[in-house]
Amino acid sequence: MQKVAVIGAGTMGRGIVHVCALSGFEVNMQDVSAELLEKSVNILGANLQKGVERGKVTSEAKDAALARISCITDLEEAVVDVDLVIEAIPEIMELKLEIFSKLDRYCLPDTILASNTSTMSITEIASATKRPNKVIGLHFFNPVHMMKLVEIINALETAEETYDVSAAFCKKIGKETVKINEFPGFVTSRINCLIGNEAFVMLQEGVGTPEDIDKALKLGLNHPMGPFELVDLVGLDVRLRNQQYLHETLGEKYKPAPLLVKYVKAGRLGRKVGKGVYDYTDK
Ligand code: NAD
Repeated sequence: MQKVAVIGAGTMGRGIVHVCALSGFEVNMQDVSAELLEKSVNILGANLQKGVERGKVTSEAKDAALARISCITDLEEAVVDVDLVIEAIPEIMELKLEIFSKLDRYCLPDTILASNTSTMSITEIASATKRPNKVIGLHFFNPVHMMKLVEIINALETAEETYDVSAAFCKKIGKETVKINEFPGFVTSRINCLIGNEAFVMLQEGVGTPEDIDKALKLGLNHPMGPFELVDLVGLDVRLRNQQYLHETLGEKYKPAPLLVKYVKAGRLGRKVGKGVYDYTDK
């Protein structure tokens, strides 16, 4: 495997591009507009530069990684000659089905098609293609260049060879993996949505301030981040979509907390807009 395409250059897509390019893969990064791609490649470059300043990446490796990235708006052009496609567009099933049906038409027959969905059925996504044996879930974590894990999700018809090739790819980009049989929310999102949602219910009930709830989980339960710090990083809109999908598929205990819904309606989507549970406008 030498060439990868990443579809969607948002929080996750650009992180996946970052680790692939740094590990020696040629990467096509695709999104709906040239402006979005330019913004993403600038953020990615700034993250690589921070790695240089911290002594984790050499200046030469940073330049070589940036040289391996091509920004492309046309989907067909981005995927026509790649070995692996990783989709990282918003968590909306209709959008994912539309993209996978196009990927199936545009890609070479042997290309593996992966989704970075946090919760959704890879089997359903694979049904939009004529190659369900080559469709798999590769669930990365935010920020991708710092988080060690990729959950690999086998759908109903994923071939063992597709799993083996995907696991070898993850190893090559320096990630640890776990093998998951598809079920909504896999392991991590299923647990994390319960904890994160309960934190919003507690905030709503006045159990504590966001700072105290975060501090309690960090110092009392040894979580590296508090649930509000984490949801501000993930994006409250992204979390709400995950929560809604798990509510539909796994039942009432995943019903989104009304306060989470209210924050999203107010546009408080987290760090990416400067305000979520916490205010980042002067940071
Ligand atoms: P995001 O909103 O930051 O980025 C999505 C990108 O997709 C945007 O740049 C958007 O312009 C682009 N896009 C939308 N429609 C497109 C299309 N038709 N073709 C090409 N590009 C398109 O979202 P994100 O947080 O990066 O999440 C992406 C996926 O990763 C979702 O499925 C999400 O559940 C999953 N995920 C997110 C996190 C997280 O912490 N944010 C963690 C793990 C997995």
